[in-house]
Amino acid sequence: MPRSVLVTGGNRGIGLSIARELAAAGDAVAVTYRSGEPPEGLFGVKCDVTSSEDVDVAFSKAEAEHGPVEIVVANAGVTRDTLLPLMKEDAFTDVIDTNLTGAYRVAKRATRGMLRMRRGRIVLVSSVVAMLGSAGQTNYAASKAGLIGFGRSLARELGSRGITVNIVAPGFVETDMTAALDADQQNAITRNIPLGRAATAADIARVVKFLVSDDAAYITGAVIPVDGGLGMGH
Ligand code: NDP
Repeated sequence: MPRSVLVTGGNRGIGLSIARELAAAGDAVAVTYRSGEPPEGLFGVKCDVTSSEDVDVAFSKAEAEHGPVEIVVANAGVTRDTLLPLMKEDAFTDVIDTNLTGAYRVAKRATRGMLRMRRGRIVLVSSVVAMLGSAGQTNYAASKAGLIGFGRSLARELGSRGITVNIVAPGFVETDMTAALDADQQNAITRNIPLGRAATAADIARVVKFLVSDDAAYITGAVIPVDGGLGMGH
């Protein structure tokens, strides 16, 4: 039986790569998309993670199609970068609402079925900036650091039920999110990456695939850097 998987923000970037990687390995994958069209060849459910109702409907649709969700990847995320003196309160609260409270909504809904099955895998997509900090990203870094405390607490709550919770901390990944940076900003970041290049979305997806595999059965509450060494030491 293929495993039922739900990936939020799975219509592009890292989320799409994770979805394609798991689907290619034989999983039954549902992806949420907030705007546009669902990606070809994957079961798409429309969902804005800032709405509990949307999240609930997305899970219900995925469950109706593929059975109880046993693997969840909370990947949906946004940036609204600016220095703190210029940051409007809604730029702070919106980023927290999507990146952190969104993951709370998704994980909470996911645990319902997982607790019943007494198995499950939850992966939260954080960021190297959770540990390093990042000027102009106080909102984003706070949301991504919050995911670590959230995920580790949840790992403690769910460990005895056969459910693992892990956090992936990508570094600089080539997606629409980073394409918004100008060439100087991109070069400055790449210079500090020991491996000397940005990650591809597939670099992240393959690590997520490992974390939800049988080989990672004894890993929970871990923060896995996938950053080419950028955050080394943190
Ligand atoms: P993209 O900007 O390419 O994609 C973001 C995805 O999140 C899209 O699918 C988007 O949907 C979805 N999304 C955003 N807001 C919401 C919402 N409110 N409800 C539902 N879905 C939403 O980003 P990446 O692929 O680069 O990033 C994916 C994750 O990885 C994010 O959490 C990001 O913070 C994290 N990350 C990225 C890094 C990078 O260098 N790119 C580095 C470290 C972490 P839609 O298409 O509808 O907008």
